[in-house]
Amino acid sequence: MNSVRQSLYLKYRPRRFEELVGQEVVARTLRNAIRERRLGHAYLFTGIRGTGKTSAARILARAINCEHPEEGEPCGSCHACESIAAGRSLDVIEIDAATNRGIDEIRDLRERTQFLPSELRTKVYIIDEAHMLTTEAGNAFLKTLEEPPEHACFILATTEPQRLTETILSRCQRFDFRRIPAAAMAAHLTQICRQEGIETVPEVMALVAEAGAGSLRDAESLLDRLIGLDEGILALDSVRAALGMADPDAIGRLLAGLRGGDLADAWAELRLLEGAGVDPRQLLRSLGAQARERQWAALAKPAVDPGGRFWLDLMDACARGGSELRRADDPWMALEVILLRLASASSVGASAAPPAGPARVISSGTQTAPVELPKAPAPESSNPPPEVPSGMAQSVAEADPGTSAPSPNEPPVGALGPAAAGEPTVADAPARPAGAAASWQARWPEVVDWAQRNHPGPFTALARETTPVAMNDGILTIEVRYEWHLGKLREPQYRSLLEQACRSVLGDGISVDLRPAGGAAPAPEDGGGARQVGGGALAAALKHFPGSTVRKVELRDRR
Ligand SMILES: [Zn+2]
Repeated sequence: MNSVRQSLYLKYRPRRFEELVGQEVVARTLRNAIRERRLGHAYLFTGIRGTGKTSAARILARAINCEHPEEGEPCGSCHACESIAAGRSLDVIEIDAATNRGIDEIRDLRERTQFLPSELRTKVYIIDEAHMLTTEAGNAFLKTLEEPPEHACFILATTEPQRLTETILSRCQRFDFRRIPAAAMAAHLTQICRQEGIETVPEVMALVAEAGAGSLRDAESLLDRLIGLDEGILALDSVRAALGMADPDAIGRLLAGLRGGDLADAWAELRLLEGAGVDPRQLLRSLGAQARERQWAALAKPAVDPGGRFWLDLMDACARGGSELRRADDPWMALEVILLRLASASSVGASAAPPAGPARVISSGTQTAPVELPKAPAPESSNPPPEVPSGMAQSVAEADPGTSAPSPNEPPVGALGPAAAGEPTVADAPARPAGAAASWQARWPEVVDWAQRNHPGPFTALARETTPVAMNDGILTIEVRYEWHLGKLREPQYRSLLEQACRSVLGDGISVDLRPAGGAAPAPEDGGGARQVGGGALAAALKHFPGSTVRKVELRDRR
């Protein structure tokens, strides 16, 4: 391979209408016009960059002047075709309106159009970026369009037709160049690779075509850069890495974590992707593409994938998130905010993702539900993270609004937006046969209420983070959710307040045993009930149904 290579975009520029990639309608219409000699004096080619507007204009210039057109295509070998293709003809004039946009240039153009062509049949003016003409220049040009000389043809190309005046638009035959479909682009890129002797696979071509986003020029420029990476071969892994794209398996794991409520897994996966050099913007696009696919699949076959709101919410988040990421100083953090917001808003119905393993029961609805992001890599899947934002819970209970107001003196915790405050949490508990909820569990909200009434402030905040898990010989084992709270509650003054609260509500002689949440529970003396039982409205309901066990409470239409 030569050290200086012609760009693929120039090398594989189409020379005939039929070679225009993905613009079959435009190509056919122009070819028919040439064949039937129905030629206009002004054409307008519109479309995003890289869709073939300028190439089509040059092909049209040759076809108009070709001495032996074949089925509407330029022959490519006559004097006119060759001199235009080589850029030698004085009768085909290309003007970049982005740099020659003033009144003087257009006056000059008007004067020159009066002269007959020097060698060809028709003088062709190709005006690129036509929307960049100044108002004065546009008005002067309009006069030319209104009375075009017989021997002249004008082809305007623009990415922004809405910026042209109505009068100019009305003088032109308009052709809209569509975004080039990825499949057509991939086929063309494959052809280029074959001719260049580059070894590759269809997946790579699909990735490059996708990255072109409808613009063949962008896709070809990208292919140029990728070919420069590894001579003679384009492997999927290296292309993905060069594009900052994530491995689809990793995206699958990330989505599973977000959808299933395993934030720790999602967090760990995000860190791995960042470490692998994945571009967060690219990742957002990939997530959006996945969401789109899954959402429509869910609508088509709801029995296979009920979907819930998750995919729709993810689509929405990705559709809006692009500009947020572009503006962000730290795009990774911006992406995390988008995903966490989504996770806290989306509640996947139990039918969409049935909980595996232990039954889920509801903990007290009277406490706030702070969220702490896991700092370490994901724990083993058999050991789910203790802190799960309530909004993501597979089943949730209604918070008791009367008792959920946080104390102003509560220590700061990383709450996940307003939605997290005052909502209940879901905790795993071993499935047990239905039995009576122990009274000390059912009445625990009263203990917290006692704290609120008698010692509002720090102690109440601490009490809200407690859960009674066992009662043996007058010793009540209480789990505390966070280490910081546990440390505080072990201080003598708080510990004695907690015992005072327990004795006032549950009976004299009770002493407490504090420990971090998640330890192995000592067998409760009554042997029944679940580890945690709901409070607030739930506790009130339980009073009317002695002997009941709460397994799952679902609240739909939470948003
Ligand atoms: Zn020709």
